[in-house]
Amino acid sequence: MTYQHCPGCGGPLKTTRIDGHRRQNCPACGFVYYRNPAPAAGCIILIKGRLLLVRRKYQPYRGDWCLPAGFMEYWESPKGCAQREILEETGLKIKVGELIGVYSGTDDPRTHAVLIVYLGIPQTGDYRAGDDAGSIKLFPLDRLPKNIAFKAHTQAIKDFCRYAGIKT
Ligand SMILES: [Zn+2]
Repeated sequence: MTYQHCPGCGGPLKTTRIDGHRRQNCPACGFVYYRNPAPAAGCIILIKGRLLLVRRKYQPYRGDWCLPAGFMEYWESPKGCAQREILEETGLKIKVGELIGVYSGTDDPRTHAVLIVYLGIPQTGDYRAGDDAGSIKLFPLDRLPKNIAFKAHTQAIKDFCRYAGIKT
């Protein structure tokens, strides 16, 4: 993503080498556009030994399955983000458990995501699909769908299985 105008003063941006990298910056006010990855958080949730996956309602990867997860708001903690996303997409109130892993998501066309995956422990029983989740399904860990949206999600599921001593 490149920008035409400075978000601070509206002046034209130019590209200069800063700290060894070409970055857009504003000669008028000194603004530098540091393009950072976007943190996201989500959860592995097991219900009766089966993994909860949500089906993506929107692009990218519409119709594919993924862990309930989403991008962090500026004011959130990673755990707070995971709790909010799970509530929005599944209706479940969760307790955030162990950290499963942190993953670099380079197959999301929107941005370079850094996905933080926790174990999510449901505090309520009923789930229903909401927000950008079209539907929800529980999958046995040895019979996961082929079309899982992001490599980071597939890796997190593998890491969880290894962590939990589950053979898949
Ligand atoms: Zn400026």
